Amino acid sequence: MADKIKKILKKMRIWRSLKARLFVIIFLTGTIPGIFVRAGILENYESRAVEVRTSDVQTQLRIIANHLITYNYLQDTSSEVIGAELEQLSNLYSGRVLVINGNLKVVKDTYGISEGKTIVSQEVIRCMKGTNTVNYDSVNGFIEITLPIVETVSAQMATADLPEGTELVRGVMLTSVSTDSIVATMEILNRKALIVEIIMFFCIFVIALVLAQILIRPFDRISKAISEVKEGYTNDPVSVPDYLETEHIVDAFNSLLERMKVLDDSRKEFVANVSHELKTPITSVKVLADSLLAQQDVPAELYREFMVDIAAEIEREDKIINDLLALVKMDKSAAVLNISVININELTEIILKRLRPIARKNNIEVTLISKREIIAEVDEVKMSLILTNLVENAIKYNREQGKVDVTLDADHQFFTVEVADTGIGIPEESLHQIYERFYRVDKSHSREIGGTGLGLAITKSAVLLHRGSIKVESVEGEGTVFTVKIPLTRVLV
Ligand code: ADP
Repeated sequence: MADKIKKILKKMRIWRSLKARLFVIIFLTGTIPGIFVRAGILENYESRAVEVRTSDVQTQLRIIANHLITYNYLQDTSSEVIGAELEQLSNLYSGRVLVINGNLKVVKDTYGISEGKTIVSQEVIRCMKGTNTVNYDSVNGFIEITLPIVETVSAQMATADLPEGTELVRGVMLTSVSTDSIVATMEILNRKALIVEIIMFFCIFVIALVLAQILIRPFDRISKAISEVKEGYTNDPVSVPDYLETEHIVDAFNSLLERMKVLDDSRKEFVANVSHELKTPITSVKVLADSLLAQQDVPAELYREFMVDIAAEIEREDKIINDLLALVKMDKSAAVLNISVININELTEIILKRLRPIARKNNIEVTLISKREIIAEVDEVKMSLILTNLVENAIKYNREQGKVDVTLDADHQFFTVEVADTGIGIPEESLHQIYERFYRVDKSHSREIGGTGLGLAITKSAVLLHRGSIKVESVEGEGTVFTVKIPLTRVLV
């Protein structure tokens, strides 16, 4: 049942609103105590009124019982005084009084129906033994009271068996009094309480509506502020410090906004850099071509010379585009890893063989130091990119007759590739920037030697895709050491 109600409530859209919930909670907390208080007060009134009525009647009965003994009414019912007293009592409380003697015979009935009859009810018999009884019948609306008619043994009557002061039960007075007046008062009370309650319900309804609206306002302000940011009207941080909760939401949103701004800035910067980098070779080609076109009867050698330059610029453009494509591919996701079991020593040897001719041009000696054989689960193409970029840089940024040492080592979990050169080194303040796209310590020098500024960005992405790490140590003018550490087996996330 409870589950069913929960399901229905879940489906009801309105119940999912915090405002509706607040309204219901405030309304119920305001009204439920009122209902209980009304029921409590009415019940209390009823028992108190019955108590008072009973005690009044008992007092009257006690007085009359004394008179009954004095007038010896149980033997002789002719006393008009007693008759009048009994009539008055029954009229006063709209009830009936029966006087019963010691033989359980009714000697007087104010209704005049049961006189001469014998009554053997439980209450009467218990009362004969000296116990008062009171029964309240709320359904039929009367109280039944029994009271013993007691005679106290006087000095003249006293015998050895009955000493003076002994109380003898001579008969019983059985009375039933109506509680109609109590019920009528209760009805009036109930009606008045109900009117007050309805007014209260209405007031609480309005208060709950207003309170729920006020309490929810900070959340409305948050969504308004967020939609302003979404629409692009502002980029300022949102501030709604009314509640701790709103502050937390807003803080989380602001840090998200901050992160998006950083991403957006870096995207803009990247696009600007790409455009600039791609434009430079094109501009050079245009300048070269224009200058050829502007001249007449250009000698064939000059043509050739210019064409060589144009081809070099086109090659550079091609290199930038290739690097960009490699970077974009790397950015996509880890799913692009094409893992196979590779002998890293052999792979490094192949790459060094390819790069040695370039090194030789500057009389740079490239050495491979294999400390142990490494078999690892890696993406061969990406691993080649990592090795090629690092060794190529070590050659490019080296000095005449410099050295490049590539050291391969491994433990039971990782293998390391260390590329150390004796080159120009990297200034300390640039060390943390070298992995940024298009960052170059010395732009013109890098461009001269064919750098795009993307090599290390590609390398770092490839290392991270393999769940590895890359670090650099460098001393300006002395050389640089790059160390790449990659798990031997593929780490599944
Ligand atoms: P580039 O294509 O210009 O070489 P990279 O991303 O490979 O771009 O390198 C970024 C910059 O880091 C380079 O421009 C260079 O200034 C510096 N750098 C990288 N490797 C070395 C190295 N081995 N020695 C000195 N400087 C280096």
